[in-house]
Amino acid sequence: MPYDVLVIGGGPAGLSAAVNVRIRGRSVLVVSNPPEENPLWRAERVDNYLGLPGRSGPELLTQMRRHAENAGVEFLTGKVLTSVRSGKLWYVSVGTEMYAASALVLAAGVARGKKFPGEAELLGRGVSYCATCDGMLYRGRPVAVLGYSDSARREADFLRDIGCSVTYFDRPKDCRIEGDAQVTAVVCDGERAAVDGVFLLRPTVAPTDLFPGLAVENGYVSVDRRMNTNLPGLFAAGDCTGGPLQVSKAVGEGLIAGQSAAAWAVAQSRT
Ligand SMILES: Cc1cc2nc3c(=O)[nH]c(=O)nc-3n(C[C@H](O)[C@H](O)[C@H](O)COP(=O)(O)OP(=O)(O)OC[C@H]3O[C@@H](n4cnc5c(N)ncnc54)[C@H](O)[C@@H]3O)c2cc1C
Repeated sequence: MPYDVLVIGGGPAGLSAAVNVRIRGRSVLVVSNPPEENPLWRAERVDNYLGLPGRSGPELLTQMRRHAENAGVEFLTGKVLTSVRSGKLWYVSVGTEMYAASALVLAAGVARGKKFPGEAELLGRGVSYCATCDGMLYRGRPVAVLGYSDSARREADFLRDIGCSVTYFDRPKDCRIEGDAQVTAVVCDGERAAVDGVFLLRPTVAPTDLFPGLAVENGYVSVDRRMNTNLPGLFAAGDCTGGPLQVSKAVGEGLIAGQSAAAWAVAQSRT
């Protein structure tokens, strides 16, 4: 059964969108990494969120998440890697599973950092963004994992369990991926490893990688005042739409995106 709305990202914007979808009585699934991996978790003290000064990032996020759970929002831990629209539905992949919804809210925060040399050229020819999806292709072979979160270590363990020989690079800043037709090596912060596969496990995916054809301006998703993007049934909110990169703005945009997405789902169900 498809969801009415699927939200990509469980930060303030995504949680606000999800709560407001539930307030309109529609079903909603939030796909995100665990709260402890959200950027706001690192904030020691947030003083500019109206009415709740002096809370820590973890306190705020925990309360927001509890609010959403109590409102009946469903959660899935994982990363959306691809999307496709077919008929009246959006389909997104999370690991090896597909999930369907009438409307999507993109609330994925900002994707920091540029692609590494060789990454785009060798994507699908040794470069992968998902260990559980592509790991079996590298069974018994040497691979590198470039991990940027705690869950990346679990994906590296999965690769070891299926027989890969794993070189783990913890949050490398500098990387070059080598190979012609296929990946042959990776050089991370000056250390070289001869590998057949490179798993790049970043917490965020660039919006244009997730949604080919999505309109962006200066790297941020273009939206109108109802948080419509240029793609039908896709709404966006929070840091991914641009500054100010702050909680209040994310929550406000999430409210509008949630309302718009719920209204879209209702309209779709009537046609
Ligand atoms: C150290 C620090 C201190 C800060 N202090 C303040 C402050 O005092 N006041 C203030 O207003 N703001 C502060 N901020 C900024 C605030 O954290 C952001 O503005 C806010 O979190 C943005 O919310 P968001 O929901 O748009 O995005 P985020 O909170 O970034 O949430 C997006 C989530 O989506 C996940 N995601 C991305 N791609 C995918 C995908 N493909 N599939 C599934 N999940 C995905 C991300 O990993 C992330 O967890 C601070 C930020 C930091 C880092």
